[in-house]
Formats: sequence, structure tokens, C-alpha cells
Amino acid sequence: MMRQYELVDRVVSYDPVANEDLLNRAYVYATQKHGDQKRASGDPYYSHPVEVAGILTDLHLDTASIATALLHDTIEDTDATFGEIEKIFGKEIADMVNGVTKMSLLELSSADAAQAENFRKLLLATASDVRILLVKLADRLHNMRTLHFISAEKKRQRIAQETLDIYAPLAGRIGMQNFREELEDLAFAEVNVEGRDLIVERLSELKQDSGDMLEAIAYEFSALLGENGIKAHVHGRQKRPFSIWRKMQNKSISLEQLSDVFGYRVVVADEAACYQALGVLHRNFSYVPGRYKDYISTPKRNGYQSLHTTIIGPNQQRVEVQIRTEQMHEIAEKGVAAHWAYKDKQEDYPDIAKIEPFNWLQDMVAQLKNGGTAEEFLENTKLELFNDQVFCFTPKGRLIAIPRGATALDFAYAVHTEIGHSCIGVRINGLKLPFRTMLKNGDEIEIIRGEEQLPNESWLNHVQTGKARAAIRHALREHEAADFISLGRQMVDNLFAAEAVESDDNVLDRALGVLSYSSLDDLLEAVGRGALSAADVLMASLPKKGRRKRDRFAGAMRSLIGRPDKLSDNGQMLPLNGAFYGTVVKVAEGFFPLPGDEIVGIVTPGQGVVVYPANARELAAFDDSRERWVPMQWGEESNQLFASRVHLTAVNRTGSLSVITQTIADFDANITNLSMIHLNEDFCDLTVDVEVRDKEHMEQLVSALQGSRVISEAKRIIFGGSEEN
Ligand code: MN
Repeated sequence: MMRQYELVDRVVSYDPVANEDLLNRAYVYATQKHGDQKRASGDPYYSHPVEVAGILTDLHLDTASIATALLHDTIEDTDATFGEIEKIFGKEIADMVNGVTKMSLLELSSADAAQAENFRKLLLATASDVRILLVKLADRLHNMRTLHFISAEKKRQRIAQETLDIYAPLAGRIGMQNFREELEDLAFAEVNVEGRDLIVERLSELKQDSGDMLEAIAYEFSALLGENGIKAHVHGRQKRPFSIWRKMQNKSISLEQLSDVFGYRVVVADEAACYQALGVLHRNFSYVPGRYKDYISTPKRNGYQSLHTTIIGPNQQRVEVQIRTEQMHEIAEKGVAAHWAYKDKQEDYPDIAKIEPFNWLQDMVAQLKNGGTAEEFLENTKLELFNDQVFCFTPKGRLIAIPRGATALDFAYAVHTEIGHSCIGVRINGLKLPFRTMLKNGDEIEIIRGEEQLPNESWLNHVQTGKARAAIRHALREHEAADFISLGRQMVDNLFAAEAVESDDNVLDRALGVLSYSSLDDLLEAVGRGALSAADVLMASLPKKGRRKRDRFAGAMRSLIGRPDKLSDNGQMLPLNGAFYGTVVKVAEGFFPLPGDEIVGIVTPGQGVVVYPANARELAAFDDSRERWVPMQWGEESNQLFASRVHLTAVNRTGSLSVITQTIADFDANITNLSMIHLNEDFCDLTVDVEVRDKEHMEQLVSALQGSRVISEAKRIIFGGSEEN
């Protein structure tokens, strides 16, 4: 294990201004927190974060990344907390450690393929800081290097498969070829031991056949280029077992046919030299048509640049050649990490280094959406883009993927329908916010629930997802059904009381069979909705007295109409109050009755009870169907406001409108709508919709308006347009 001073020295060697004190404190903190915890290898646990930090020094990462590597398992595996780390090491490092922890929590539940796909997207999506990804990849690399210490085969297999499915392609995706190849080979050795052994065997055969050809060819290339005035560093290598295996799979090549296993890198001074070198090789060797690729003029999405070609080498063997500059080589090996490490040396990396790694990553992802070449992303074309989704967490770290644009309320419904229904507020990343707040990647959402809470219609404006919408609609329908049942119950009770008949459930049950309803709730709901009259229920309940009752009932109803005061003492009138007002009992359109006004209800099929002012002329239309009339009264006094309307004629002068609105506001009335009907030089006619408590409140408001110097006439409207009323 690397010692404390060795690690710090390494960082200082490439970053002279590194914060040594912070690195030392992180090292000590990690060793103390992990205490005597052990790895499967028997090593002290803290050797792992130290090794991970060591891997990152190879990439020349900054102090914050190295400290994050040292601390990366403390939140998950020790009693360390985000708050403590933030206090000691600052927000930047705490956020990064938190990011790595979130990713680690996901591993636990990433057993199936769909989850793996989600996870891979999440890794990119949550990379608000690309260094988090780098730490996570280094973490995985060290875990893979020490995988053989884990005794449970199943666990080893799972980790190796996950590495092949997620981490290796991800490393490739952000351009870190060295990481990717090592991860692949370590995983390959676990997942497919026989396959790997066969390939390794064949490779050593080939190597024996060709003797020291690998170096011989490298020397020949180098000499040839030198003769042509090109200074080049040529490096030959055998391909990795896993990449050979993948090629065999993709192209159905047998082990015997396997020959194309050598690759050469030609590193030259500048871009012009790349093309010159290519020209020299193509003039001196035959090359394989269709294998030439110019990734210099058209870099890969991950920033990779090189010229690729395959030539028939000295021993009639195909060899792949990659030609690039030193900078291109650096980026090819380290990918995004190279950009990060060299961000201060912009003159060396003018094109890419000026872009922040995150933007660069995002940009790359956006380009991916438009599809790269098939070859370029052969190995991980399955990665769909996640532009249409955001990934959020429950406080326990469960990952929920929801469509972009979705709100915290959508999230609540995504977790569970009941949680959605009872949502009264949310905390997003610890902050209390409205539940219509749109969510971002990586948000952690805590749903605050209320016991009495029920969805209401306005919620439909605050959700995006079909699931939430359907659940809210369903709840509203159920709620509405309950209201209609309760309304129906009151209508039946009132009528039975007027007829001095008891309306207990036994009596009502008799009506069920006669009227063909399967349950009392169904029957009462039908009454509430106006599909069945309370009178029919009465008749069906008392068949013997039927005829006589009907006559008496009709008479009784007639006597009630227009005389609401007669019944108010007995409580036999339907109360129009909070629960019913505007929902199952609706005021007829164009009418504005207020508490204090006499009202009457008309049972209207499909709508329930529709309320009119008791002296509305429109009621004459229902004279012939008196059984539909429902005596009504206003409910108990409450703070509820009711819709009403006033008509004003005002002086047409600057400021009139503000006087009017101020007057209304002074009376604690809400303006819900204001429209100008008619305008001339001197006056304008206005219709103002206001919410008031009752008739008296309205009368006070009207007289105040009449007293205003800018108003020549003010009038309350009860009957909509028909002023004759
Ligand atoms: Mn770890």
C-alpha cells in the first residue's frame, strides 16, 4: 500500500501547488474512519481508497479528486456524514464524495439488464462533475484488480458482468482506453475463463511463429519514416484478449483464422507529419481497402483523434497502424481525464481544453443522440440517450427515472400512488419547495404527506406523467362518487322526513330490488346524479301506500317551493355549502346567488343538482316536473367565498380602474375577472366578477362603489344577462 507521503509526493510532482495539508487530512481521516475494517484480501480497508487515489495520480488529477478518492467509501461504510465531510473538507469535495456514494448505492440493485441500462445512463446523467465519474471508475478498477480475493463465485461473476456491461463501455465512452482495456480483461478472466485461456494460448503460438517480429516491424517502420525525414516513435503491441474475443464474436472468426493481432502506434510531432507518415506507409506496403479512417479531421465523439489504417506487413500479416501526435496520444489513453488534467495548459490543447469537462461531456452526449458511425460505437450502441429522462432519488437512495419536465408531484406518484395522493409538500435536496417544482438530474426528493390530503382538480395542472394524471383522475372520480352518494342520501332523507317516513337502510333496501340497483351506494349515487328521483325511491320503498303517497308528496313539494323559510327550522333543506358548492351541486350558469338569497335546486340528469335563485324566471321551465325540485338552503356560515358579479359604469379617466380595484380590495373581495363591455369618451361599462362572503357583504361593496367619485352606477348582477328579473 502506498504511504501517505508517497501519495502526496506523487500529486506534488505533477501539481506543485497541490494542497498538501488537505491531502494529508483526507488520508488520516480515511484511515481513522475505516479503522480496523478489512478487505476480502485481509488488507486493512483503508488500503483500498489509498490505491484508488493512487490510480488517479496516474491521470494527474487535482487535489479535490484525490481527496475524494481517499474519502469515497466513508459515507457508505463508516459513521462519517456528508455534513461532517463538508465541514472538514468543504462543499466541493463533499458533493463529489456524495456523488460517488450515490453511484455505489445503485450497484446493490442493478441485477437485471434494464436496471443496468438505467444505471449506465444515470452515471452519465449524474456526472454534474466529471471527476466523480473518474473516481468511480478508479474505484471499480481497483475492485476488479482485487476481485480474486472474493470467495463467493456468484458475487465475483456479478461484479465482473457489471464491469463488462457498464463500467468498461463507460470508460471507453469518455475516452479512457487504458481503463477500459484493463477493466475488460480483468472481467473477461472472471466471466469466461476458458475463452480467455484459449485466446492467450493462441496469441503465444502466434508470437512464437513470428519470433520477435513485433519489434522487427516497429524498427522497420521507424527506419522507413526516418529516411523520409519524419521523426517518429513507433510502438508495437499485441491486442488484448478481450478485444480479440469481441472481434471473433462480431465477425464470427475462428481461433485458427485469427491473425490480425498486432497493432502499431506511430507517434509524430504534428498533424502534418501524421499525413506524411501515412503516405510513406501506403507507398511502401499494400494496404487493406476500406480500413483507412481519418479521425483527425473528424474526431470521434469522445475527442479521440488519430489516423487508422491496416497494411499487409513484412510477413504477409495484417497489421493495424494508428498514427497520431503526442497530444492525441495522451487524450487517446486518458480521455476526459487528459482534458481535466491539462486544463491549465490551454496553449497545448487549444481546442478541447478550453471547454469545461462537464460541458464537453454533455456536448458529446448530445452529439451521440444524432448517432455516430456504426463502427465507432459498435460495442455500446445500446446506450440510448437520456435527454428525455431525469434520474432522481428517494431519501433512501432508490433511483426513480421520470420524464424530463416532470414535477415533484409526478415523482410522488412514481414512488407510490398513495404517496402521491397524500402529498402536501416536498423537500428537494433538503429545501422545502412547491410540489409543482420541475425536477433535475440527481435531485433527492422527500415527500411530505398529510393525513387528510386528497387530490383536487388543480393537481392535473401540476403533473406531466400519465401515471400521475390517471391516478389523480381516478381519485377525483371516486371522491366525486362519494359526494354524489352523500348528496343523494340527503335528498332522500329530506323527502322522507317531509313525508314523515323513516328512511333507515332497511326501508331503503326494499327499493333496491324494485329499482334494480345492486347496492345502496349505487342507488344513492343515482339520486345524487339526478338519474333517479328521490320520489321514486320513496314509492319503491313503500309500495303499499304508493298512490296515495305520491299525491301527498307532490302536494308537499309544491307547498315548499318559494317558501324556504318554512322548512329551514326542521333542517330538511339541502345545505349548499363547502363540500357541495361548485362540485356536485352547481350554480346554474349565468346566475350569481349568494348566501342570504333564497335558492332552489333542480335535479338535472348527469349534472346532479343545479341551483337557481328562487325567483329566477327560468324556473318556470320546470313547473311541469315538480318532482325535480329540491328545497335548498345555504350551509353554515364559513370563510368560504362565493362567485358573484357586479356591473359598473365608470368615468372614463386615467386612474378610474385603479380606484375601482382598490375599493374592491378594501372590502376583502377577490376580483376573478374584469371585462370592459362598452366604452365612449366619457364613460365605460365594466363587468367585474368578484368573490364575496354573502349577500350582505355584496351590498356593502355595491354601496361603497356607488359612493366612489369615479363611478356613476354600480349594480349587483344575480341573473346573468336578464336584467328584468
Ligand atoms: Mn470503493
